[in-house]
Parts: sequence; C-alpha cells; structure tokens
Amino acid sequence: MSDLPKVALVTGGSRGIGRAVTERLAADGFETWFTYVSRPEEAEKVVAGIEEKGGKARAFKLDSGDRDAIAAFFKEEIKGKAELEVLVNNAGITRDGLLMRMKDEDWDRVLQINLTGCFAFQREAAKLMSKQRRGRIVNITSVVGQMGNAGQANYCAAKAGLIGLTKSTARELAARGVTVNAVAPGFIQTDMTSELPEQAVEAMLTQIPLKRLGESDDIAAAVSYLAGPGGGYVTGQVLAVNGGMYM
Ligand code: NAP
Repeated sequence: MSDLPKVALVTGGSRGIGRAVTERLAADGFETWFTYVSRPEEAEKVVAGIEEKGGKARAFKLDSGDRDAIAAFFKEEIKGKAELEVLVNNAGITRDGLLMRMKDEDWDRVLQINLTGCFAFQREAAKLMSKQRRGRIVNITSVVGQMGNAGQANYCAAKAGLIGLTKSTARELAARGVTVNAVAPGFIQTDMTSELPEQAVEAMLTQIPLKRLGESDDIAAAVSYLAGPGGGYVTGQVLAVNGGMYM
C-alpha cells in the first residue's frame, strides 16, 4: 500500500451541487480536492468546513475550459502525488437562448465547459486509474440532456453528449477496473436555478411527481453511492435523481 493520499477530485466544488458532493465525499473518508474558477472566498469556506470536521481538502483555481491547464494540473499536482480514486465532473454553466438567436460564443462556451472539459478531465484521470486498475468516474449530466428543453439547445447538447461520453468510456475502462457513470439531476435549488422566475418554478413543479425541487444533498448521495463500495458493479449507467420527472 502506498502512503499517497487517496483523493476524490470534484470539478466546480465551491458552490451548489459540487460543494455538496465535495463535502459528502470528505465525510465518506476521501481527501477531497476540488476546482473552482471565480469565487476563491467560497472555495476557502468549503475547505475550512471540511477541515473543521477533521477531513482534508484542497481547492484549485482551474478553468474547465482550458485543456492545457487541465493536463498541466494532472502532471504537476496529481501524478506521483496522489492516488486518484474518484473523479466527479460537475462544473457546468448555462448560456440560455432560443436556437435562432443563439450566439456562436454561447454555443462554444457551454460545449467547452460542459462537455470538452469533462473529456479532458476524464482522459487524464483514465490514464492514472487504468494504471492503478481501480477508479470511479461520475459525470453530472442533466434531466434536460435526456428530454431536451426549449431555450437550452447548447446546454442540452452538451449534457446529452456527456451521456455518450460516459457510456463509451465505461466500455473502454471496465477491463481496467474503472467504472464510469452519470448522474442526471432534475431541478435542484442552487445558484444556477435561483434566477428562475416564480412562474417557471411553479410550472416545473407540476411536472415533478414528488412535488418539490431537489436539494444538492440528493445528488451528493447518488454520487456517494456510485463512488462507494456499493457502486462497484455499476457502470455505464445514468442515474436519474429528479423526483420522478423523467421515467
Ligand atoms: P452552480 O451553483 O452555478 O455552481 C457551479 C460550480 O461550477 C461552481 O463551483 C463554479 O465555480 C464552478 N464552475 C463554473 N464554471 C467553471 C469553470 N469554467 N471551471 C471550473 N469551475 C467552474 O451550478 P450547480 O447548479 O451546482 O450545477 C452543478 C452541475 O450540475 C452542473 O454541471 C449543472 O449543469 C448540473 N445540473 C444542475 C442542475 C440544477 O438544477 N441546478 C440540474 C441538472 C444538472 P465558482 O464558484 O468559482 O464560480
């Protein structure tokens, strides 16, 4: 057994779902490392909260849209310094708009962060996990990647693409003892959804059989399962955590 820390890496762990996932994996016993891009003060709070509870955490400023920076991060911070047990591709953004008015830069940026970034993290993680012959990768997709959503063609295309990436890499990495799954949240109360008008939320609730928006902890519990001992025989799956919205 090596003395290297057993690390769970979460992208976009400073707020919302990623924060809840980071905290949950820390509670599960992993040393948790996470990325953020714009809010160092939020990232520091997450690290402090985990350390207060006796866990270990580190925050890295790293833009999921920068493939070279992602490769450099793995080379400088992870390779030979940690055993990467878990990767959670969570960082994501929206740039909504109807198709006919959608700007190229809004299409490109959403695909770059929400899909290409996940590919870049996964490619690096896969190299290390394959060598270890063990690892868990969880990609956070979305219910709208499964059913579509007017005004979110870029976001839905990226999230649907992430499901394809998940299923393909699950087949590639299974022989190396690495599982790859996706979690597809429904509507979860975070900064991403806080700007929605009340009417839109009311309309959404009519489509959710469990009659409430989800919490970040609902998603963290699903990730914890897939990353933990109970999830070892599950790969290539999309676990929907959406209150029964898309069955
Ligand atoms: P959020 O509250 O907006 O938080 C986004 C997180 O991602 C923050 O930690 C942010 O860091 C980080 N981030 C954003 N852009 C980044 C970049 N370029 N590089 C690195 N980190 C970046 O979002 P959320 O609602 O928790 O969503 C998390 C994931 O769940 C996303 O992939 C989202 O698409 C998916 N999802 C959300 C919902 C929902 O209803 N909320 C539903 C389905 C799927 P900073 O703090 O530094 O900005």
